[in-house]
Formats: sequence, C-alpha cells, structure tokens
Amino acid sequence: MRIRLYLVIPLILAITAIASPKQELPRPQHALGFQVGEDYKLADWEEIVSYFHSLDAASDRIMVQELGKTTMGNPFILAIISSSYNLKNLERYRQIQQRLADPRELSPQEAERLIAEGKTIVLITCSIHSTEIASSQMSMELAYRLASEDSPQVKEILDNVIFLLVPSLNPDGIIMVTDWYRKTLGTPYEGTSPPYLYHKYVGHDNNRDWYMITQQETKLAVEKIHNVWHPQIVYDMHQMGSRGARLFVPPFIDPIEPNVDPLLQTEIVWMGSAIASELIAQGKSGVVMASIYDGWTPARAYQHYHGGIRILTEAASARLASPIKVSWDQLAEEGRGYNAKKSTWNFPLPWKGGEWHLRDIVDYELIAAFACLRHAARNRDRWLTNFYTISKRAVERKEPPFAFLVPLEQDDLPTAIAMLQVLRKGMVEIHQAIEPFTADGIPYPAGTYVIPLTQPYGSYAKTLLEVQHYPVRYQYPGGPPLPPYDTTAHTLPLLMGVKTITVMSPFTAKMEPLEEILLPKGKVIGGTAKYAYLLSHQSNNSVLAVNRLLKDGYKVYWSTDDATVDRQFFPAGTVVIPQADELDTKIKTLASELGLNFFSINKALPARGYLLKTPRIGLYKSWSASVNEGWTRWILEQWEFPYQSLYDNGVREGKLTEKFDVIILPDQSPSAIINGIPPGRYPPEYCGGMGKSGVDNLKQWVYSGGTLIALNSASQLPIEHFWLPVRNSLEGVPQNKFAAPGSILKVVVDRLHPIAYGYPRETNVMFWRGLAFELSGGSAVATYPPANPLLSGWIMGAEHLCQKGALVDLPLGKGRVILFGFRMPYRAQSYATFKLLFNALYYGTAALTTLP
Ligand SMILES: [Zn+2]
Repeated sequence: MRIRLYLVIPLILAITAIASPKQELPRPQHALGFQVGEDYKLADWEEIVSYFHSLDAASDRIMVQELGKTTMGNPFILAIISSSYNLKNLERYRQIQQRLADPRELSPQEAERLIAEGKTIVLITCSIHSTEIASSQMSMELAYRLASEDSPQVKEILDNVIFLLVPSLNPDGIIMVTDWYRKTLGTPYEGTSPPYLYHKYVGHDNNRDWYMITQQETKLAVEKIHNVWHPQIVYDMHQMGSRGARLFVPPFIDPIEPNVDPLLQTEIVWMGSAIASELIAQGKSGVVMASIYDGWTPARAYQHYHGGIRILTEAASARLASPIKVSWDQLAEEGRGYNAKKSTWNFPLPWKGGEWHLRDIVDYELIAAFACLRHAARNRDRWLTNFYTISKRAVERKEPPFAFLVPLEQDDLPTAIAMLQVLRKGMVEIHQAIEPFTADGIPYPAGTYVIPLTQPYGSYAKTLLEVQHYPVRYQYPGGPPLPPYDTTAHTLPLLMGVKTITVMSPFTAKMEPLEEILLPKGKVIGGTAKYAYLLSHQSNNSVLAVNRLLKDGYKVYWSTDDATVDRQFFPAGTVVIPQADELDTKIKTLASELGLNFFSINKALPARGYLLKTPRIGLYKSWSASVNEGWTRWILEQWEFPYQSLYDNGVREGKLTEKFDVIILPDQSPSAIINGIPPGRYPPEYCGGMGKSGVDNLKQWVYSGGTLIALNSASQLPIEHFWLPVRNSLEGVPQNKFAAPGSILKVVVDRLHPIAYGYPRETNVMFWRGLAFELSGGSAVATYPPANPLLSGWIMGAEHLCQKGALVDLPLGKGRVILFGFRMPYRAQSYATFKLLFNALYYGTAALTTLP
C-alpha cells in the first residue's frame, strides 16, 4: 500500500506537469494595451506587478518574490531571472556566493571549484527616483525578452548569470507619479513632477540612505537582496536633466572613496566602458563617461564595500512620458567634465539635438542592461575570481587600523547601540569583550564592543567610523575648488556623538561575536522614590521617555540649576518626574525599554525647573517640496512628537495662536517658502507659497508668544523679514573664499541654555549650505570655536566661521525665534544634534517655576 503510494504521487506530479504546460508568455504590449515607452503612456505599479506575476506564471526562467511591503503598504517585488536549471538550483548558487563572500573557511582549491561552478550575480534596480520613470517601464520589456528569446546572447546570459531585477526601488513613488501624470495629462501641467515628495518621508534622498538604512525600502533591499545575494554587479538606473548628454555611464570622476578596493575601481571602469562602447556600436549618440558623478560618498554605494561594483546610468529625461524637443542650440556647453556640443574621448559621439521620447530612454537602457548582462555572463570566471580576491584581501588585512572600540561608558549609550546596529545592518561583525584587555597600551574593561577590521566588511566599518580627509580638487591651479557631488564627511561616531576609539596596533582580547546588538536594559537606582525620579538629559532616548510620560499625564520638569543629591551630581537640565500614581511601574518599563537609568530621590532637588508640556507643533510643508521637511517629519515620528503639517493656506489663514505653540520651517530658501511654485506651472492650489500675508501672520504669531524654529537656509526668512538682531556673516562671501560642503564641524555649546540641556561643552554638527550668525541681541546656544572647527570632510576659509553663532535664540515680543545654521536632522544621521531640536520644541512652551 505504502509502496504503491510512493510510486503514484510522482506519477501524478509528472502527469500534471505535462498536462498543464506553462501558459503562453504575455507580451508587455498585450498586457498593458500599449508599447513600453509609448508617448503619453505609463504603466502604474499595479500593472507592473501584475505583469511580472504573469511572466512568472508562464515562464520557468523567471521567479517573482514579494519581499515585503513598502512604507505605504504596497508590494515590493524582486524578479529572479536565469535558466530554468539555475533557478531550480538557486539555493546552491546562493551558498556558493555566500562562501566566496567570506573565504575564511575556504581553501584555495575549494574556492577554485566554487568559482568554476558559481554564477555572476547581477542586480539591476529601477526608478528609485520615481520621476526618473523610464527604467520601471523598461524592466517589463527586459524581463520579457530574457524570458522569451532563444538567441545565443540570451542563452549565454541565462546560463551564466543570476539576474536580480527590481522593477522599482520605490513603488510608492511610481504610484504617486503615474497618478499625477494621468491626472495632468492634456492639461497645461502635463509632464511636471508631483508637487510633493515621491517617497512618504525622504523623496529624492531615498538614494542617500544606503548606510544608515532608515527607510523600509532600503531595509528590504539590503536585508533581502544585497545581504542574501552579495551581487558582484549592482546597476542602478537613473535619469538627469534634458539639455546635456543622453546617457551618463561610468567611470566616475575623482575622488573615489579610498576604501573602495582598487580592483573594484577597475571593474567599474571595465563595465562602464563596455556599456558605453556597446551603445555607440549601436549608433546611440550622446553617451558620456567619466563626468558629473564622483565615487566619494558611501551613502549611494552600499555594494562598493560589499565586494561588488555599484554603477549607475543617468539618462536625459523627457517630461515623464511626454516627448520634448531639444535643439542643438539649447544643449549645454558647460557640463561637469564634458561639453555637450564637443566630441572628446569621454563623449565621442555628441547627440545632434531633436525630439526625445520616453521610448528613447527605454532603448538606451535596454542596450545598456543587455551590455551589462552579457559582460557579466561572458566574463563570469573573472567576476567571480575578482569577487573572491576582494573578499580574501578583506579577511587577510594586515595593516592599521586594526579595530575600532566602542566603550560602554558613553554619554548616550542607546545612541552608541543605535550606531552599532547601523553597522550590523551592513553585515559588520561586532564582538563584545568578555574579559578586560589592553589595546595600544590602554586598558579596556569587559563589555567593550570591538569591531576588528580583518573581516569581510571591514572596509565598510572603516569607511563609516574613520575621519574623512576630502581630497579637494581645483578647477585649475589656483582656481576655485570643484564641489563634491554630495557631502564630504560621513563619520558616524561624530555625526551620532558616539565615543569610538581607533586601535593602531595588533592586540588580543577574549570576546564573543554578537549576532544582534541589543540595547542593555536600564535600571532604577535607589528603589521606589519618595519624592521624584531623576533622569539624565544626555540620551536621545530621554526625549522618548519624556514624551511617553507627558502623554500619560505625568508632570515632567527640567531642573534649571546644577545640583548634588546623595553625592551624585545632577547638572542643569536633569529631567525631574515627581512621584505620582502608578509612576513606579511606568518608570521601570521606560528604564527597561529605552535603556535609561533613573535615580530615585527622597527629598526635593535644590533647584528651579521648567514645567514641560507637549508642544502643539506645526511643521511647515511647502508645495515646493523640501526633502528636509520629510526627514524632519520622520524624526518627529521616531521620537513620538505629535505634530501637524502646516500648508501655505494654513499660514495665510492665520489664527496660528489657536493651533500652534511651535512652528518649524524646514531647510528651504525663503523665496521657495514665500513665493512657492510660480503661478501657471501647476494647478492654482499648489502655487504661490505662503506669501507676504503668511510671513506677516508668522511674525504676529511670534510676537504673541509663538516659537518659530528655522532650519538652515530657512533661517534667512526671519532674518530678512522680522528685523532680528542678527545677520548671516556668510552672506556675500564668494564661493572661492569659503566652503564646507557637507562637513562635520565642532561647536561649543552653552550647556546652561535650556536648548543645550544634556550636552557636554562641545558637540558636532553637519554643515551644509549653512549660515553663521553674528548677533547684536539674543543669545548663542552653540558657537563655532576660535580655531578651525573641522572634524571630518573639508573646509576652506574656516576663519569665516570662527566664533560665529551656529544656533541662536532670539526673543521677539512674547515669543522667540530659534535659528539653526547647520543641517538638521541631516538624513536622520546627525543624532549628536537631535536633542537641540527636541529641546527647542519643548522650550517654546516650558514654564519656569519652582520644583514641587
Ligand atoms: Zn536619480
């Protein structure tokens, strides 16, 4: 009976397989009702996802996985494309890749066998920037051709490559953009970008999140694709402006971040020039290499530190799916590294101008994708050998620095843990000492976190933990500097305010590897309090505790004076929570969940205090969308601050006192805030900014008690319109006299000012298109030191900042204006400055009183 059953089941399966052959492959144009890239037509996300599923159902060369949901709850999908044999043995190939990525337990003979057997892993990601929409459309045709064609070219690719295709790294944005396009098609606004961020929180900055990994889409891509497959080749498809080259292809220009393995740097050149050559062979003009984009920041290049190349192409844009016409005369002559009208080695075949359609972009991208896949297939052994070589070099590293140490003794341990968790997301191996040890002659206690650099992703850890010395380049000897494409500094310990030690000589320590970095639980010191619980203001998590306590109706104070109780020093700003009903349990929960220590005291603290209340926060949101608004919103939500978005019409309407205690103007130019989008370019409801009436209402509201917080360039608005006793001393300083583009600088804080409560004497800020305040009234909360403030990155003309205000508090009428002259909350990375913003939010409503 049993035997028979064994025989019957495979037989049934075999019959089913024969009886129901895969359905016929659906062509994109049949599924969509139009050709991919057709003028005025865009497939939306539902159509794209459903098309990929239908290909999966009909082909044994493609397998579609939903990796999870996006920020707004939409499916995030990955298509795996290869020969049916490879797909059946996918797990085997994944393991090969895994073993080559970490060759510590691998003999050279075995490595050779694995290289012979393994496949090149290629990841192509589309339309992370959702208005750069062509590649999301192209992805369907690319998948269809790989699934349907039987040419030698396709066979070679399918046999040698495991191709991971992400039709969009930001599906929510595809939905927003296709909705907007369809709504405005045939109107005067056709082809414009939506007047809001195309990612719920971070808009265009979703492509600057590749080491901090804060957003859901980055998490899915890193955890479920990069860290699983370790692709040798990652190709990210973008679009740029319309008046220059038709397609940018690597190599990148200098500087390349020095921790990117030199072999990998040559691979970028190798692949990039192969793609360019293929395009030109097929008669595609306007291809430019070695221009515009540098290879400095790791924020866009996760794979450069994980054994693979990360290349991008940038195609000239149409107006979404609407064609444009660019004449020869309209082409830009001043490109970064080329002239669109002149043939040079890196731009050998200029485009002559004319019409430019969505389909043109699709065509260029298809050729580029096939060139990339063919290169990966034809040079399979080379890509695998190089991948192994890079991994092997990493695990055999023998030069200083040897490790980074993160001690448990921190001003803000939960933030130190957050930093370690960021590294861990990038597969960095982190250990914890189980016995005391000595490194560079200095003793360290058990419990110290150790990040040895001799590990597969040691260069990733090193890049993020060390100080950057940006190799500035000049336009010509003695000429103005070339600005970096992005920022110049990314030192996480400085950005986050975490004490980290570099070890320069070999050492031994008894330690255990940590799979997960857990936040150590906090304690309640001194048992049940008779009078109050005290909490240090140093940790960012203390803000979470305060918000949760206020939400539950408890009274919370900041002490205004330094005080000593039971020989324990409590500096000004210490959080005081007077004993109340059911408070003991609440405090225990907070201590445990947030890793905070509470101190119980049995008699009143000899100090005055600010009684805190939850501020009614308005976060200004312009239709001329600001990415900084999105990041600020993200940060407010992460730290559980309730807020309302405040739009132009809300500001113009006035009655702000009834609704808000504090209003934040995110980093945005005053003209964008005041004038917004010029009339005529968008539907009228999005045009016009807050206008003069809005500015007057804001000023009036401050006079009657409101607190206005302006971030970075928005500071210029109250400076220009409120007659404040302050000027921006960088105004009018020419670009060749001062620059600090995305650099980390030191500031000295007035720790007795409530906005600086919880800070030591100094902290670090991210300076980027910032301001420096010269005061003739009010007070400076943070000031640049008398000497060069540079900590990481690059600065020119540091003297322009010396002793100028970085963060100032300016009372005005019954209210106040608080100006931040640096980038806040810089891509959710500048933890070292978060509390300055959080304190400023409370400060607006805090009432000075005696402690109960
Ligand atoms: Zn882009």
